[in-house]
This record gives sequence, C-alpha cells and structure tokens, in this order.
Amino acid sequence: MKTKQDWLDQLAQLTLPTMAFIAGQYTSTKTSYAVINPATNKLLVDMSACDQEDVDRAVQYAKATFESGIWSKLSPRERKDKLKKLAFLVREYANELALLETINVGKPITESLNVDILGAAFCFEWYAESLDKIYDEVAPTALDQLAIISREAIGVVAAVVPWNFPMDLASWKLAPALATGNSVILKPAEQSPFTALKLAELAQLAGIPDGVLQVVTGLGHITGQALGRHIDVDCLVFTGSTETAKKFLSYSAESNMKPVWPETGGKSANIIFAGANIDVAVDKAVFGAFYNQGEVCSANSRILIQQSIYDEFLSKFVQATEQLRIGDPLDPETTMGCLIDVQHTNNVLATIAKAKVEGAVQVNVECKILIRDLDNFNFVKPTILTNVTPAQEIFYQEIFGPVVTLTTFESEQQAIDLANDSIYGLAASIWTNDMQQAIRLSKLLRVGTVSVNTVDALDICTPFGGYKQSGYGRDLSLHALDKFTQLKTTWLNLKTH
Ligand code: NAD
Repeated sequence: MKTKQDWLDQLAQLTLPTMAFIAGQYTSTKTSYAVINPATNKLLVDMSACDQEDVDRAVQYAKATFESGIWSKLSPRERKDKLKKLAFLVREYANELALLETINVGKPITESLNVDILGAAFCFEWYAESLDKIYDEVAPTALDQLAIISREAIGVVAAVVPWNFPMDLASWKLAPALATGNSVILKPAEQSPFTALKLAELAQLAGIPDGVLQVVTGLGHITGQALGRHIDVDCLVFTGSTETAKKFLSYSAESNMKPVWPETGGKSANIIFAGANIDVAVDKAVFGAFYNQGEVCSANSRILIQQSIYDEFLSKFVQATEQLRIGDPLDPETTMGCLIDVQHTNNVLATIAKAKVEGAVQVNVECKILIRDLDNFNFVKPTILTNVTPAQEIFYQEIFGPVVTLTTFESEQQAIDLANDSIYGLAASIWTNDMQQAIRLSKLLRVGTVSVNTVDALDICTPFGGYKQSGYGRDLSLHALDKFTQLKTTWLNLKTH
C-alpha cells in the first residue's frame, strides 16, 4: 500500500489542470477563479471561469459534432469499444485521478481511489457493455402495418454535477449519455474541476472524437446558468441541491423547454426496531451517517430508534463512531477527511450550534485525531445529537456534514410518520428481524431506495434517485438510458394496393 509520502511525492510530479477543455483542447478564458485545497486552505490553481461566450463555443462545437455523426452515428459496438478503452485508461490513471480528487475535495485518498475512481471506471465499462444488448421494439399493430419504436440520442447534453463525488457522479451521467451517442458538456462544481478535466483528456486518448466530451469550468450562476439557458442544449442532467435544481427548471422554462433531470438533496431516515441485530445496525449507522464526512445526498442523517433499545444503541453507536480516524486526506490511515470549504464548514458548525439552542444535546465523542491544528482547517468531528424532535429545524434540514440526529419512537406507525415527515424522499433504511414488517414499511416509505438490514444499498444495476423534492431523475441501471434518448415511432404501410 502507498504511504502518505508516496502520495506526496506523486503530487509533487503532477501538473494541475488550469483551463477548460473545449473543442478538443485546453482553452483559456478571460477570467479565472481560485481553486483551494480544503485540507490546507491553500490555493491550488487559478482556474478558467467560462462565461456565456465560452459556453456558447462549447455548445456550438458539441452540436456540430453531434450532427456530423462521427460519434452519434457510430454503430453501438464501435462506441462500446471506445468507452471500454476509456474505462481501461481510468484504471491506468487511477492513482493520479485519486490524488486530484482528494486534493480538490478533502476525502480520504483510499476512498477516492477505491470508491470514486474505480467506481467510475466500472460505470463506463458497464454502460459500454450494455450498448449492443439493447433492442428496439415492434408495436403490436394490424398485420398490414409495421410500427417500429426506436431510441435516438437527444443531441447536446449538459451535465452539471456537485463536489461530493465529482468523478463518480460525473460518470453516472456521462457513461449512459455517451453510450447512447450524445455529445456531452460537463460542468463540474467550481470547487472540484480536476478529475473532470483529466477525464476529458483520457476520452481523447481513448479515441472519442473531439467535441463529444467537453468540460466547461466556472461558477454556477454564470457557467451553469449559461448551459441551463442555452437554446441548443437539448437536455440537462443535474445533481446538486434542490434550490439549484429549481433554478434549472426555470432556466428551461424560460429558454427551450429542454428536459431537466434533477437528482437533489436528502434527509434519509435510518429506522431501527427492537429485535434487529443491534451490533450490525450500529456499524452500518456509522457508515450511513459519516461516510465521506457526511457529504452524501443519501446519508442516513436521521436515526429513528425504538425507545426500548435507545440506551444500548446510543452507547454502542458512540463507541463505534470513536473508531473513526480524522486526518490528512492524503494519509492512507485516515477514514474521515475534511469538508469542502470554509463557508460550508462554518454553515455546518452554525447548524450544530443552533440545534443545541433549540434543545438538541451533543453527545461527547472522542474519535482518533491524526492531524495537528484540526480546528484551523475544515475538519469537523463526527457529531451525534440526541433529544431531536420534529419541533426542531435540524430534524428537517439537510446538513451535508458529519452530523446525525437521534429521535425515538414507540410504534411502527410513529416511525413511518417521522420518516415521511420531510420534503425529501431519497432513501431510507429499516432494521428489523420481521420481514413482513420490512415489506410493509418499504411500501409505505415515500423514498426512491429502501435498504433493509443495511444502509444506503446501491449498485450500478439498480436505479438511484428520489421521490418528492429529492428530484425525479434516475441514475444507474438501464433506466438511466431513458433520460438520454427519445423515442421515435416509424410507421410502414404494408398494404400492396
Ligand atoms: P449546488 O446545487 O450548489 O451545485 C451543484 C452544481 O450546480 C455545481 O456544479 C454548481 O456550480 C452549479 N450551480 C450552482 N448554482 C447554480 C446556478 N445558480 N445556476 C446554475 N448552476 C449552478 O450543490 P453542491 O453544494 O455542489 O452539492 C451539494 C448538494 O448536492 C446537496 O444538496 C446534495 O444532497 C446534493 N447531491 C445530490 C445527489 C443525488 O444523487 N440526489 C448526489 C450528490 C449530491
């Protein structure tokens, strides 16, 4: 296994990208913005900030590329070969990509490598492999008619993604969009542009034609808005906050009615009943609440616990949380890195403080600290708040940090009511030894994914997405292809006279 020094040595050899990737090359722009390492608060690079003109250039190039057919009209098998090459290159460059991700967002290097980067490679491979196994349809018409229902690529797809899993979430959008023949413009979050840019380079190396994957870097309200309002962007896929998703819906309404597919926020409940395997539930609850510093849309940030097992659960949960190791994200021993930036850190700390004023009680957690000057940077210790009720704002608020609340319930109905009491509906977990109860509850929970006796279950072969204000797009699985294709019906009249 590589040591922290190995990673630092590799970092010293790296040239960090600084420009947008438009029309097959790195392209400078009139203005730039600062990209900061959240673990040190030091400047990494000044990055191109694309304005409306830059975005327009990328969109026109994408449109021309799409219309030329050099990608969109390739046979599925030809696109499959190039996407598999891209997956291969992502694995080849996995260490470099993991480093770029970690210095950009502060997540532990081991997770960047094993989860984010290798996960993205697998995603490209999976959609590449799906391509020559999907068939179109023939409708059940009268014998003298033939109606063929086929899927066609939409055209220019814009993908706007957040900073918590930059490469992984980008691959969830790009892989199915590219597989189906679209030309894609990716806009990474301003904080985390590095892996997106490296990916565009690798796509070129894989033989994917210029203009099929471009990356516009820049600020949300300028670069993102320019994509959202562009008349020649045919489809916009988005992962990020509910607030920004609503803006994209209005950009669409005010421009060309492009379909907008939002994957947004969450406040997932982890419901634990007496009789469940409490030790396993405790371990998974730590993962559900604190993985990726809690910066996970489907984080199980609301634990609902049956009153009779509350004391036992809490004491075991605190002990298990204390096994987390907060440290330098480049240290392979670290299991919890830092938050994305100063502003977000301050928001999370302010939310904890406000919750305490409203009656929440912070439990003492002594986890392992592998770093000095913890308080000077964006490291927030795992925070467990008890005595939380629906009377408090924190019960509803998405925190997107390492903060979990505990609320007790007596009856099954009370648990369901508490879990569904949210504007969000991304995911929920249930811990029970009664499978009838599990099925009954899973039907009543208004969420996109229910995990029984585990948390946050996820696989590329199952759709991921939310109910209510968690959005309505579905990433992953073959269902994701629906967003990037439109259905065409072609009628053939077979009558001879
Ligand atoms: P965000 O909404 O602030 O930003 C997401 C993207 O939108 C970024 O690329 C940003 O530059 C862009 N953007 C911001 N303001 C914009 C504007 N006015 N116009 C156009 N584009 C704009 O979200 P974030 O802070 O980067 O990420 C955190 C949020 O993402 C959380 O709410 C989290 O739940 C959500 N998220 C959801 C999922 C999911 O699959 N449901 C996954 C990960 C994160």
